[in-house]
Amino acid sequence: MKYAENIVDLVGNTPLVKLNRVTEGVTDATVLVKLEYLNPGGSSKDRIAGRIIDAAERDGLLKPGGTIVEPTSGNTGVGLALVALQRGYRCIFVCPDKVGEDKRNVLTAYGAEVVVTPTAVAPDSPESYYGVSDRLAREIPGAFKPNQYENPNGPRSHYETTGPEIWRDTEGKVTHFVAGVGTGGTITGTGRYLREVSGDTVRIIGADPEGSVYSGGTGRPYFVEGVGEDFWPGAYDPAVPHEIIEVSDAESFAMTRRLAREEGILVGGSSGMAVVAALKAAASAGPDDVFVVLLPDGGRGYLGKIFNDKWMRAYGFGNAPAGHTIADILS
Ligand code: PMP
Repeated sequence: MKYAENIVDLVGNTPLVKLNRVTEGVTDATVLVKLEYLNPGGSSKDRIAGRIIDAAERDGLLKPGGTIVEPTSGNTGVGLALVALQRGYRCIFVCPDKVGEDKRNVLTAYGAEVVVTPTAVAPDSPESYYGVSDRLAREIPGAFKPNQYENPNGPRSHYETTGPEIWRDTEGKVTHFVAGVGTGGTITGTGRYLREVSGDTVRIIGADPEGSVYSGGTGRPYFVEGVGEDFWPGAYDPAVPHEIIEVSDAESFAMTRRLAREEGILVGGSSGMAVVAALKAAASAGPDDVFVVLLPDGGRGYLGKIFNDKWMRAYGFGNAPAGHTIADILS
């Protein structure tokens, strides 16, 4: 019989698929995307959760019956919750109140507890997202805070899994790797592995929202979620990427919608952003070049925003139609 022992064993080994329509007239290179939404928790963050928890157990930071406390509103929380429930840990996630109810409900569905903090307070206030999670981690006996922004096991998990999978699945033919930069774990770990294994011939390209520090900005604001920063996290090694390409929200969201409509790939805004950066770089590439672009999560979490015409119009992203009436359709 072919089956996995438990859901966590299904993390990783995500497939590559070729882009066919959005590349037309833009590049002769092969552009492959790696579908991280096919991980069981729906994102690339499933990969780091297992490694971070394994290391914490090994280092004695997390003991049986312990509690995981992390400020996260999304994908990292789901990954941690999946591993925690297999191993009997309690999970408490701290989310700012700007995070939608649907996102919080995903975390509670997996049995996590969610503490909501006000967005409109200074980051150093005790009531902030960071202040509350620090206090919980300090005061709950047996609490462990993974701190994905600084934890070296984040990049390490990509070095040990994402990188080798890409090298294996492309039979060593990959020439360019493109990923968005959030904590920086994905590009640092995957990029480092691909540079080493290829004798430093694979070009590593980071994609970053306009305004973020990685492409020379000072911080926010931008709307694309999960990428860009206003500080330099320890999980990111700026020596790994050869180049960082800046992408606007409008470009990211337009491409995210095209991926769904033209390729049948329903992914989040940071995936659209990474594809825009890849196509900018691939415009000057040749037919023997093989780009691999990592798409971190699926599009279902963004139905109310990127895939909602009303939201897109309200925030000034394009002039999508107001909706379809029978008259529109028959006219
Ligand atoms: N996209 C999304 C949707 C994410 O949640 C993340 C993780 N913050 C990223 C991209 C970036 O990945 P990394 O943190 O490894 O840089």
